[in-house]
Parts: sequence; structure tokens; C-alpha cells
Amino acid sequence: MEDRRENSLGANFDFPPSILDEIQKNIEDIILNFDIPEGNKLEVIKKINFMYSQTRYMSVTDPLTGLYNRRHFEDCVEREFLRSKRYKSNLSFAIIDIDFFKKINDTYGHSCGDFVLKEVAYKILQTFRKTDMVFRYGGEEFTVIITETPMEKAVIPLERLRKAIYDTEFLYRNQPVKLSISIGVSEVNDSTETIHELFEKADKALYKAKENGRNQICTSHL
Ligand code: GH3
Ligand code: MG
Ligand code: MG
Repeated sequence: MEDRRENSLGANFDFPPSILDEIQKNIEDIILNFDIPEGNKLEVIKKINFMYSQTRYMSVTDPLTGLYNRRHFEDCVEREFLRSKRYKSNLSFAIIDIDFFKKINDTYGHSCGDFVLKEVAYKILQTFRKTDMVFRYGGEEFTVIITETPMEKAVIPLERLRKAIYDTEFLYRNQPVKLSISIGVSEVNDSTETIHELFEKADKALYKAKENGRNQICTSHL
């Protein structure tokens, strides 16, 4: 399995062309309007580019896990939803929630909770393809946009992930920590009219997974 930890921390981030144009225009404006000596111009351009990239990177990233954040999720889910409706391509959506996470914080401390969040984020990233998108949606909840994949196929990697987490003994300061996750999955079909519906279906399925005893996947079919 390819390692995507590096990617999640930077290399996996591409600027859309429109933003590159905007950066270029801003830099040109600065160079024109300020009296920068010719010999320093290249250095100034490099510095501005670097600062812009960092700011942009921080605005879409969750600092704890290095995953994309909720703000970026809102943008991506809209784009992928519209793409799926327009081209009738398969699109699955999953919400992953760590079971009894509060208990982990309470038992081992908040920094162990943070450690667990990072480990789970890494395992989720490892599970999915580069064409899929993984986000930290909030606290101990993650979302995954699984492109070009119907729900019946999306449950295969999700089940692999669920099992991998359940089978792993996470070692925090030489202390073994066990945990499980529950997952709700939905997909875009002809009757799905809004992103809200797609999200709600996965959320309801997640609720069912919790109700049925946790450590399991529920799909919106059931
Ligand atoms: P359930 O199985 O029903 O999902 O129970 P739960 O305990 O996982 O869910 P609950 O919503 O009761 O608790 C979530 C906890 O997540 C509470 C909050 O303190 C913790 N949390 C949220 N964000 C962070 C974080 O960034 N770091 C740590 N360590 N804990 C966090
Ligand atoms: Mg939760
Ligand atoms: Mg939870």
C-alpha cells in the first residue's frame, strides 16, 4: 500500500489554474506599484509565492491530522456532487466516527486522544485511492468522498478499514490502546437531489451503526 502521509502534508495539494492566475496578477501588481530594485525582484516573487502557498495550504488543512478540513470538504463535496449528477458517474460518501472516543480522552488523557486521531487519519488515508478525498469533518468524525464508485463497491475498502482499526493495538507511550469505528455510507442516485440529502443519508446510516452496537458499517439501503 502506498504511503500517503507525506502527501497529506503538502504534496497532495494542487492549485486550480484560476488561483495561479490570481497569484500571478497580484505579484505583478506588487512589482509594478512598489519600487523594487531589479536584482531583488526574483527573490520578492519567490517570497510572495511561498507565503501565498502556505496561507492557502493552511486554509484547507486540519493542523492536527494534516487532512483536508471541513471548509475544503464543503467545496469538494459540492464539486463532486455536481460532477456525478451531470455525468451520471457513481459517487459514494462515508462518515466515519470513532466509537466511545470520549472514553479514550477520559481514560488516557487528551494527548492520547490527539495521538489516536492522527493514527486513525493516517489509516483512512492509506485505505483510499488518490482520486478519493479524506477530510477531518469535526472532532472525531471524518468524511470520505469516494469517486467513480457505487456504494456496494465502496463498502469493500471501508470494511477493510474498519477491520484494520479494530485489529490494531495503538501504542501510546508503551500503552496499548484499542478502538473501533462506526461508518455510515450513502451514494448519489437518480433520486438524490441535494448534497444535504447525500449527507443526511450517510448520517442516518451512521446513527444506525451506533444503535446496532458500533464497530460496523451501515449503508443507506438498509
Ligand atoms: P460514540 O461512540 O457515540 O461516537 O461516542 P463518543 O464518545 O465517540 O462521542 P462523543 O460525541 O460523546 O464524544 C466525542 C469526543 O471527542 C468529545 C470531545 O472531547 C472529543 N474531541 C473532539 N475533538 C477533539 C480533539 O481534537 N482532540 C481530542 N483529544 N479530543 C477531541
Ligand atoms: Mg461523533
Ligand atoms: Mg464518536
